[in-house]
This record gives sequence, structure tokens and C-alpha cells, in this order.
Amino acid sequence: MSFSDFELSPEILRALSDRGHHDPTPIQLGAIPAALSGKDLVATAETGSGKTCAFLAPTLDRLHREHANHLAAIVITPTRELAAQVGREFQLLARHLKLRAAVVVGGESERRQIDEIRKGAHVLIACPGRLIDYLERHIVKLDRVEVVIIDEADRLLDMGFLPQLRRIMKMVPKHRQTLMFSATMASGPEMIAREFLHDPARVTIGAKAAPPPSIRQAIYPVALEDKAKMLLEILKRPEIESAIVFTRTKSRADRVAKLLLRNDIRAIQIHGDRSQSQRNAALAGFKARRYRVMVATDVAARGLDIPDVSHVINFDLPDESENYIHRIGRTARMGKAGEAISLVTPEERVTLARLERTLGAELEREHVEGFDKLEIAPAKPVKLFRSGGFRNRSARSRPRSRWA
Ligand code: AMP
Repeated sequence: MSFSDFELSPEILRALSDRGHHDPTPIQLGAIPAALSGKDLVATAETGSGKTCAFLAPTLDRLHREHANHLAAIVITPTRELAAQVGREFQLLARHLKLRAAVVVGGESERRQIDEIRKGAHVLIACPGRLIDYLERHIVKLDRVEVVIIDEADRLLDMGFLPQLRRIMKMVPKHRQTLMFSATMASGPEMIAREFLHDPARVTIGAKAAPPPSIRQAIYPVALEDKAKMLLEILKRPEIESAIVFTRTKSRADRVAKLLLRNDIRAIQIHGDRSQSQRNAALAGFKARRYRVMVATDVAARGLDIPDVSHVINFDLPDESENYIHRIGRTARMGKAGEAISLVTPEERVTLARLERTLGAELEREHVEGFDKLEIAPAKPVKLFRSGGFRNRSARSRPRSRWA
């Protein structure tokens, strides 16, 4: 099946072919015809699956056929980086069309964004905060919007944007098409679907999020106090051409980046406390290979489209198994091979056991020369309370260390 089998305008087919995209990805195969039919749509798909094109191609097609001359579609995204990425994808797909987009995000000059809106944007790609600000100041009106795309619904919820989403959805016409994309379909995104979508078509790629089989995954058991040393040792490997190192918190990301720089490893950190221009510069530098390592937190890394990452290194395991799958999905993009390495301390044993249960497999353990050989056996089944005293007690009894 090729893109030309869809009923897309020739100008869009030409733009896809200019990009070298000939065959639709699985999510595009399912979502494009459903969206072209005018129905609402819930699609379970992650960044890296080709989801942006899956919602932009049918939306641009609709606006082009209608000769839209007003703001007719909005894309709501959780992060600035994702908005910027959707904006870039828009420019490529709309290159033979007379449609314009405005990207509306916080942390950047208002003047350029307002100019783009006033010049007559047909599509608004926006993060909730700045969009509400513009709505309140009457800089933008959504009363003629025909298509609403809610991108990364699960992340919007994680980041606490539900109230803002509700306010925005009150401003768009009732009669509209709504497309919702989410990496997962837990109860949160389902609730959004029930609240804002009408009898949606559903497209799910894979029964549940699973890492691509082309990613080699390994666990490196390590004592807490040896984590930093082991990371440096692993990064000596020449096959690690470019790596994203994930940490649990922003301050740990800063500390790991400093550690790497002190050891002459070109590294940069990306997290929510950095300004937009710092984040853009970091990402551009990493993509251009000026940095070998990017140190990131989960929220900051979500939705980044970084091709060619040879390794993902989990300096800390994420608390949620789903975040592990998102993290390691940064490598092995679009069918390439990749490797995911996780440094795991005995204190993270329970998190690891939970992860292995989600993955349905025990991950391979590897040993690094010169480090104590630790065994981390799967944890016995325990009853876990998300916010009870259990975690706090175990945190307090952890050995104190620089990396605790
Ligand atoms: P996304 O999931 O939208 O973040 O897309 C991830 C990457 O896949 C982007 O770099 C796209 O340019 C690329 N991509 C999207 N659709 C296709 C396709 N049909 N064939 C090849 N690459 C694609």
C-alpha cells in the first residue's frame, strides 16, 4: 500500500514524496482513511510512529479542499518541543498548499506568534497555557475551528493540563471533528475521549505499548555509590556514538551533565527548568552531533524527534514502566537498531520487578569489569501503594550517597 492509494490531494502526495515518504506507517494506514471520512478518531500511537503526518495529512487535505480562509484547525500539544516539531512537519506537508500555521507556545517572543496569527493562520499549533492567554486577550478566536487535534493526550493529563483543555474545548464549535492521539489509553485519555469526542473510530497499533524488538535491552546492576563511575565507564565504549541519559529529576540531570563535562564528555542537559532558547540550542547541538550525550528528564524528552540515537541509558529507572518504554523508544527509530542500558541499584529492585512484569520478560543482566558483581533478583510479590508510607519508609532507609 502506498500513500497514493489514499484519497489525498495531489499537492499533499507530492509533498510526501518530496520528503521521501512513500509507504504509510501502520498508524497512518489506520488513521488517515478514518480521519478523511470526517469521523472523530482516537489513535493510540507514540512519537516515532509517524503520528504527526497521520493527523496533519487528512486535516490539511480537508482545509485545502474547502479553500479555508480562516483559522480552521488547532493542534493542542503538551510541550513546546512537540509544538515546534508539529510546526516543522506542517511546513513540509503544506509546501505546495496555500495554508499557513502559527505555533503558539510560552517562553518565546509574542510578537512573532501574533504576527503569524494576524497574517491569517489556518492552523494553530499550541500549548495550552499560551493559547488561553491569547484567548483571554482576544488575540485569537476559535469560533470557526472545524478540526481539533489533541496530541499526546496522556502527557497533557500527566502535566496537569486538563482544566486548560476544558477551557479551550469550550471555545470551539460543538460541530467539529476531533482527533485524539495518545501513547497509552489508560483511564485518563479514555475520559478525555468520552468528554470531547463523538462516536470515535479507534486505531490502535499493537495491543499494548511494547518496545520494538530491534532494541537490545540490558540491566547493569550497580551499587548506588558506583552509579556515576559506571556511567563514565560505559561511555568509554566507542560504539556509543550518541546517547540520551535519563535521570529521575531535573537536579540530577544537571549533576550528571556536570559530571560528564568534568570528564571531557560533550554533554548537554534538557529539562523543564531550562529556558526555551536553552532547550532549542541543546536539541539543535545534539542533533548536529556537537554533543555526544544529552541528559534528560522524562517530561522534557517526551515528543522529541531525534533520529539516530545509538543508545539510551537509564541512569535512574523511571517509576512508571510506560515511561521506560517511551525512553527506550528514542533509539531504534523507524526500524534502526539500538541499545538500551539501565543502571539499577538494589534499592530499585521493586521498580525493576514491576517493569519486567509489564514487559513480560526478565531483562538480561550485564556486568562491567572492575565493579562489584551484584545480583538483582526479581522482587517477591508485594502490595504497592502509590502514595502510602511504604515508599517513603523505603526511601528513608536507603543508604546515603551522592546519588541517593
Ligand atoms: P512522529 O511519530 O510524527 O514524531 O514521526 C517520526 C518520524 O517519522 C518523523 O521524522 C517523520 O518524518 C517520519 N515519518 C513519518 N511518516 C513516515 C513515513 N510514512 N515513512 C517514513 N518516515 C516517516
